This record gives sequence, structure tokens and C-alpha cells, in this order.
Amino acid sequence: MDFLRPASWEEALAAKAEHPTAVPIAGGTDVMVEINFDHRRPGHLMDLNRIGELSEWQVGPDSVRLGASVPYSAVMENLRTELPGLALASHTVASPQIRNRGGVGGNLGTASPAGDAHPALLAAGAEVEAASVRGTRMIPIDDFYTGVKRNALAPDELIRAVHIRKADGPQQYSKVGTRNAMVIAVCAFGLALHPGSRTVRTGIGSAAPTPVRAKEAEDFLNAALEEGGFWESGKIITPSVAKQFAQLAAGACNPIDDVRGTAAYRRHAVGIMARRTLGWTWEQYRGAGRTLEGAA
Ligand SMILES: Cc1cc2nc3c(=O)[nH]c(=O)nc-3n(C[C@H](O)[C@H](O)[C@H](O)COP(=O)(O)OP(=O)(O)OC[C@H]3O[C@@H](n4cnc5c(N)ncnc54)[C@H](O)[C@@H]3O)c2cc1C
Repeated sequence: MDFLRPASWEEALAAKAEHPTAVPIAGGTDVMVEINFDHRRPGHLMDLNRIGELSEWQVGPDSVRLGASVPYSAVMENLRTELPGLALASHTVASPQIRNRGGVGGNLGTASPAGDAHPALLAAGAEVEAASVRGTRMIPIDDFYTGVKRNALAPDELIRAVHIRKADGPQQYSKVGTRNAMVIAVCAFGLALHPGSRTVRTGIGSAAPTPVRAKEAEDFLNAALEEGGFWESGKIITPSVAKQFAQLAAGACNPIDDVRGTAAYRRHAVGIMARRTLGWTWEQYRGAGRTLEGAA
């Protein structure tokens, strides 16, 4: 196995163009497991750790540009206000050691349906900045996941950064696992209220071949909130609306039975998490969040 160590982004792109099957390694918390268990033996490993810009982030007026290798711990410590959903999701990843090494770029590279960043990225609205020697393109997060552990990157492309909309309202993340730490999601749910556009976005993890949004549930809730004047009044969401939202969210799942849980359990749990995260975010919106947004 050859080891490539590009010292700059340009060198990394050139190396990836020359060796499209080279496997990039950032934190290594997925790659090293695969190599150690002999699930993967790439001809070339490409270490991205000398490229400092991949571990940096910039906060813009509307979005955060998060370098592909920014570790989860940095998101939790520095971007809780701008990216509350992703910060909450980051908090549920593994252990402090893994959170200090692993990051969103690696989560996207692996594209496991159980990756914790995905529901938060889907709910917030994100774009993946992918680059190659041919140029740079922005991939909307909705188009990024193409199959089980497959993504929309071309063989010569690398992820440079992820652009995530700054929160304009409350966001929540909920995860079911067998315990509170060091656990892969049995299933997970992210929800973001966007009072600016009066919309709600969702993300479901580990309950379909890819991370998905619960689009029918979103459409139903968006219409119900609009018709009922909920955004202006901030009144409590009617239980029947919350129930219908939860049912539609459960219906968006296409889960399998596996060692972590049955398909029926996953569907049920996603419905519960949808209702809970809606309740939590709406309470936040009705309270301090809504006053701060000046939406009253
Ligand atoms: C004990 C343990 C517990 C874990 N628990 C969780 C958990 O609770 N939740 C969770 O979501 N994950 C968990 N993981 C998985 C892993 O930590 C995450 O997926 C993490 O986000 C991977 O990031 P990384 O930087 O370590 O990626 P790496 O292992 O370096 O890379 C992962 C994949 O992404 C590709 N890649 C990396 N950077 C780029 C780039 N810039 N451009 C293109 N491709 C790239 C790599 O080639 C590889 O295919 C766990 C792993 C371990 C070992």
C-alpha cells in the first residue's frame, strides 16, 4: 500500500486525478477500522492531514463553510449557535477520542445511513463543496446520498468543505441507541424550524438505505402551520397535527431488520422522535427563540 501525503489542496487534487482509486484519510476513524479488519486494502492511501484549511471554518452572513476535516468536538465547542442541530448530533457521536478525530467530511465520505451528521445536514439545508482538477461544484445535500454507503462524488473528486445554512430557528436531533455513548444509531431524526421561510425540514438516519428527508411530513406540517397561522401566533401545535406529522415521518422510512433493531421498531421510533423533536423545537420557538427572531 502506497502512502500519499499531499502538502496542499492543489497537490491533493493532482494526486487524486493521478490515482482515482486512492482512499483519502482524514480522522481515519472509519478508514482504519476497515483496513484493520481487512475489509479494504487500497493501493494508495492519501493522508489529508497536512492540509490545514480542511480543519478550518468560516462563519458567513447566511451560512457556515465547514472544512471537511473539522472534528465534531470543534463543531460542539464553536458552532453551537450557528449549527445547533449539527452540534447536538456531534455530541452523540461515539466518544471524546473519536469526536476529536472524526468529522463531517469523513461521515459524508462513508455515507453510512447511520452517520449522525446526515439528518442534521438534511434538516438544516447543506451543500457539499466537491472539487477535482476539473473544477469545483456544489452538491445539494438532497442529491448527495446515492445508495447504501454510496455518494455522488466522482472518483477524482474530494470534499473540500460543507456549506450549512445558519440556524434561523430552533433545531433538534434525537437518536435511538442501546446506550448513551459509543453507539451507532438504531435510528435518528433531525428537525429544523426555519421561521424566515416559514418551513420545517427534517432528516432521518438509519431507517432507509440512505439518509432521507420526510418530505410528505414536511409538506403536511408546512401547510398546517401556514393555514392555522401558527408562525404568527406561536400557539401550541394541535395534537392531531403533531400526530399526523409523526405518522407521515414514520411512513418515510424504508428500514430493514438487522442486529440493531427491527424494521417495525425503527418505523415506530422515528414517529416518536418526529413528534418529540417537533414539540421541543416548537416550544423553543414559542419562547426565547421566537422573541429573539422578532417573529411575534
Ligand atoms: C468506535 C467508533 C465509534 C463510532 N461511532 C460513530 C457514531 O456514533 N456516529 C457516527 O456517525 N459515526 C461513528 N463512527 C464512524 C466515524 O467516526 C465517523 O463516520 C466519522 O465522521 C468519520 O470521519 P473521519 O474523519 O474519521 O473519516 P475517515 O475515516 O478518515 O474517512 C471516512 C471516509 O470518508 C472519506 N473521506 C474522508 N475525507 C474526505 C474528503 N475530504 N473527501 C472525500 N472523501 C473523504 C475516506 O476516504 C473514507 O471513505 C464511529 C467509529 C468508531 C471507530
